[in-house]
Parts: sequence; structure tokens; C-alpha cells
Amino acid sequence: MRTQEIDALLDEPSCPHNQGQKAGCARATPGAAAGGCAFDGAQITLLPIADAAHIIHGPISCAGSSWDNRGTRSTGPTMWRVGMTTDLSETDLVMGGSEERLRHAIKQAIDDYAPAAVFVYNTCVPALTGDDLEATCSSAAQRWGTPVVPVDCAGFYGSKNLGNRIAGEALLNHVIGTREPEPPADPPAGAARSHDIGLIGEFNIAGEFWHVLPLLDELGLRLLSSISGDARFRELQTLHRSEANMVVCSKALMNVARQCHERYGTPYFEGSLYGVADTSAALRGFAELIGDPDLSERTERLIAREEARIDAELAPYRERLRGRRALLYTGGVKSWSVVSALHDLGMEVVATGTTKSTEADKARIQALMGDDARMLDSGAPRTLIDTVRGHDADVLIAGGRNMYTAYKARIPFLDINQERPHAYAGYDGMIELARQLCRTIDSPIWRQVREPAPWEAAAS
Ligand code: SF4
Repeated sequence: MRTQEIDALLDEPSCPHNQGQKAGCARATPGAAAGGCAFDGAQITLLPIADAAHIIHGPISCAGSSWDNRGTRSTGPTMWRVGMTTDLSETDLVMGGSEERLRHAIKQAIDDYAPAAVFVYNTCVPALTGDDLEATCSSAAQRWGTPVVPVDCAGFYGSKNLGNRIAGEALLNHVIGTREPEPPADPPAGAARSHDIGLIGEFNIAGEFWHVLPLLDELGLRLLSSISGDARFRELQTLHRSEANMVVCSKALMNVARQCHERYGTPYFEGSLYGVADTSAALRGFAELIGDPDLSERTERLIAREEARIDAELAPYRERLRGRRALLYTGGVKSWSVVSALHDLGMEVVATGTTKSTEADKARIQALMGDDARMLDSGAPRTLIDTVRGHDADVLIAGGRNMYTAYKARIPFLDINQERPHAYAGYDGMIELARQLCRTIDSPIWRQVREPAPWEAAAS
């Protein structure tokens, strides 16, 4: 990938984070890949495409670093769970056989698994030796009659976030717009007209999108494709026909939403599926962009019914959670959308992490938490523990990497990030979140671990 292409991706004009900055996102620091390299980011974005083979072109250590580390779920194919790598060795590099090895890997993937497509991820070593990924993938696609998508995402190009955008660019250049969708099934007489929509940046963690899909079905909103939770290659090819797109993760894939707008005229909005208010706002967002008065009316009816149902089901949890205090340390859209969900449950958020938040995310946090909002720019264990203790927080809600910090300090902990086993999106996700918060905070284990150990009690 050329420097100008990387610079263009870092300077995404529609990303609120870049507005007001002269030079876009931060450039890569040589040697710094902590928190995920560009390859990691690209792989995270595309791996949920469940019927495709994903080949990592590089040494086996790249494949081992992050494969299958997310809790994303598929309704059918499990092709994406098979780890594939060209496993480059010193001999391949010295003798110049790495492109040949890649050709063999693509052929083996197609012969053994018959995938809908093959995604090939470039890593640092073949990028440095100058393998021609585009040419190898294009000749393999012609020869074996299966789409082969090059994803030029060497780790040293930049951060995980840049890798997300590179993955989006690969979809725009090689996948979206390469097939027409099937015509929708004829609606029964008198039924409302259906509309086609798309989701960008939704990864179906723990199967959480399945809480929302029945609502879209009920409204006659056909999900043409989602990037990339529970996605199929054939669906992704048709995203250009979407009537409205929702960007679920504000930072990662804004380039896809903007370019779908510029190339195909598809309007888009940013939203969240966490919490009652935000789920309702997301449904309204589609209705507003599509501009069908009948859809708007049906959407309002559905929202009224669901909010009333959820209110009743949440009542006992609200009783238990009212006034409890939480420290939230997560990134991006969750830094404000989960605040909104916790407020909805009557909880107080003592501080929220903003390390990966955009300026727009921070503005939303301020609107929700007021001028006194405490924003943490560091997730260092000491900072988190001191904030929990200093503000009498009842629970730390954060990503899996903070779990042991919490447990060692005997602080109740709830995982909110991509490895979590529970589905929190949509109205029903809100009930799950409330249930898990009650279980976490009220678990009898905290009383026991905070008591002196038997030998300490005997000694005193
Ligand atoms: S792509 Fe580069 S930075 Fe990323 S895991 Fe492989 S060697 Fe490390």
C-alpha cells in the first residue's frame, strides 16, 4: 500500500475525530503495535464473514496473535473459524517462494472448503519483501473461479483503527457492488412495502444482533448486508442497493458509509443499539432516512409497544440497581451509549473512559453526564482502581483486559467489550445487561473475598 493511500485513510473527512485536526489520525510509531496492528484491525473487521476463507499471508506468529479472539456469532457456516496461514519461513523469503506459497494456500482453501470467497491478509514480512498481493489474488481468482480479495494491511502501516478502514476499503474496491440482490418476496395483499437497509460496524458479538433482527423483519426492513456480523459474501456484494445505512461503530468504518453515499447515493446515520432510548432512535433513524410515512407510523407503534414491554420487565431490576455507581471504561460508541443505558437503569456513572472516543463521542458523554463528566484518558490499573475507590463505585464495567485488575482488587467486574459472552443490543439486550449487573454487583462472592482469610483472622 502506498504512503498516499495510507494518508488518505488516516484523513477520513467524514470522521468527527478528524474534524478540526490538520493532519488526520496519528501516524504509526515505528515498533509500536500495542493494542493491535493494522493487520489485527483488518482481520477483526472481516473475519465475521462466515462463509469465506481467511488466509493470513505471513509468518505463523501473525496468525496466532489474534485469531478467533472475538465473541462474534454466525447462524450457519463456520468457515471463518478455520485458521489459515501461509506460514512463511526464512527459506521462503531467502529463496523467494512466498508468492508461490500463497497461490498454493488459496488453491488448498478452495479445494478443501469451497468457500464463497477467499480474503488474503498481507502482513509485515511479505509487505517488506514486496510480494504483489493484488496480482497473485487476481490471477488466483481467474484460475479457480472464486473471488479472492486482497487486504493489504501490514502491521507496520499503522494502528488497529487504520486496519479497520483498510478492510472497509477492500470491501468497497472488491466486493460491494459486484452483484445485484434478489428481488424481495411479494408481500401479501395489503402488507406494507419492504425497504432494503445496511449496517456498517455491527459485529454480532455474543449474537446480540439477533435481538434486533426480528424488529427489522416486523417493520419490513430487509437487512441486505451487515459489515460484518453474521455476514455472507453474497450479501456484502449487494450493499450498494441499500436505501439507508446505519454506522454502528462511529470511528472504525466511516469511510465505507461515506463512500457508499458518494458512489451509490445511500444516505447514512450514526447510531447505537445499546439501551432503550438508543435502540428506538436507531429504528427512527431508518424510517426518517427512507422517508416512507407508513414506515414511520409503524415504527412509532412498534417503539411504543416495545418500550412499554421493556419498562415492565425492567422494573424489578431498576429497583435493585437504582443509585448504584459504576465506573465505565470502554471505547468508541460504547463510551456514551452504555452511559445512556446505565442511566436508563437508574445507575450513576462516576466516570467513563474516552481513550478511543471521537470528539463527537465526548460531546455526547458531556450531554448525558453534564459539565462535571469525568472522562478517563488512561486505562492504567492504578487509575481504574483509584477511581473506583475514590468514588465508591459498585462495579467496574470494562473490557476483558481489565478483568484481572478488578478481580485482584476485589472489585465487581462486568465485561462490556468484544469477548463478552452476553448479548446486550436491542430492547432484550437491555434486560440482559440489567440481569448481569445485578448478578455481578450482588454476588455473595464479594463479601467473602473481602473478609480476612481464615489464617489472618486466627492471627489477629
Ligand atoms: S502484521 Fe506485523 S505487527 Fe501485526 S502481528 Fe504480524 S508481524 Fe506483528
